[in-house]
Amino acid sequence: MSDYSSLGDVAGKRVLVRSDLNVPLDGTAITDDGRIRASVPTIKALADAGARVVVTAHLGRPKGAPEDRYSLGPVAARLGELLGADVAFATDTVGDSARATVDGLADGQVALLENVRFNPGETSKDDAERGAFADELASLADAFVSDGFGVVHRKQASVYDVAQRLPHAMGALVSTEIDVLRRLTVDPERPYVVVLGGSKVSDKLGVIDNLLDKADKLLIGGGMVFTFLKAQGHEVGKSLLEDDQLDVCKAYLQRAEESGVQILLPGDIVVDTTFPSSDVTPDPRVVPADQIPADALGLDIGPASGADFAAALADARTVFWNGPMGVFEVPQFADGTRAVAEALTKVTDQGGLSVVGGGDSAAAVRALGFDEAAFGHISTGGGASLEYLEGKELPGITVLED
Ligand code: ATP
Repeated sequence: MSDYSSLGDVAGKRVLVRSDLNVPLDGTAITDDGRIRASVPTIKALADAGARVVVTAHLGRPKGAPEDRYSLGPVAARLGELLGADVAFATDTVGDSARATVDGLADGQVALLENVRFNPGETSKDDAERGAFADELASLADAFVSDGFGVVHRKQASVYDVAQRLPHAMGALVSTEIDVLRRLTVDPERPYVVVLGGSKVSDKLGVIDNLLDKADKLLIGGGMVFTFLKAQGHEVGKSLLEDDQLDVCKAYLQRAEESGVQILLPGDIVVDTTFPSSDVTPDPRVVPADQIPADALGLDIGPASGADFAAALADARTVFWNGPMGVFEVPQFADGTRAVAEALTKVTDQGGLSVVGGGDSAAAVRALGFDEAAFGHISTGGGASLEYLEGKELPGITVLED
């Protein structure tokens, strides 16, 4: 559990909370508010304790300058609804509006600062530039609570440097996320199965290195599949492919064989000749994984593979799943993701631990209508959880332990 006692009595104190409020938007409409809901308990606990809560967060990937489409304005409104209290919104992060907004807070009130990534200092690789921005952020508060799990793997001003400048503590969300990840790494109950998919292939290949020593089975779907299939000598048409990772995939397949870890690749693939777009009606076809036509793209694992993956998960006691099995946003390519989600709910029913990690994977299970309670844990951070499982140090956690 998180512990704010190191901060002393927070009543009347200005507490800066780094949350992860990076939600998908359609214009100004929030299409999945999972990360906002996950951030509420820490903010509420501090407000209830009488703190003046100053929330800082990012949205999207602005390039160090304000951009309307990345404004946190819509998020402030939703956060207020979920808290059942007004959230004062500052139209800048550390400027006149931020200072006036923070000065105007009474005990127990909450403010949200505009997108922290509108400031080049936030993500700067230059320690001095980042530090100067962290000084400005720190000047708005008396204490810092780190609760943005989705960003703890980033050495950024609002995650890392600000913690060096203020008395600090871990928030409830980060604390829960780390507890669950620890259960996956320290003596997990077996069989331990990991399912990987999604589109950020090279980001995720690193985790396989570590998992080959830990997991009993590795199921691979999503955009990752095609680099593995190509590494096995098959043609993959126009599917997502990372040519420079072929040798890495070959080496993993070889190591898995030597160490007795099962890497399960799909035997059939749902293909189409165009990448899904609103202008073209999907025309899905199922083909064997070793016969993808030259003009086709693989967009989901096929029905036989969905059943194979579910069977491979049937006796699992611990499962970590990151990355959808296909382009689940389009109904014709969502069945593989649905099959895996369904299988995870059965693991939960049987008393095992099922963890869904990653913004898109979490959004996928909600979009497909699954009840969040059907999973042991839905993580808010894909990159952060993978880096933890890779055994990498997370700067945003290390800095809190100092
Ligand atoms: P995050 O990194 O945001 O936490 P995540 O780790 O859950 O998210 P990503 O790696 O970002 O997942 O991948 C999600 C995306 O992968 C989805 O938008 C989905 O459409 C896409 N995807 C899945 N399969 C394929 C495929 N075969 N080809 C192309 N894209 C795919």
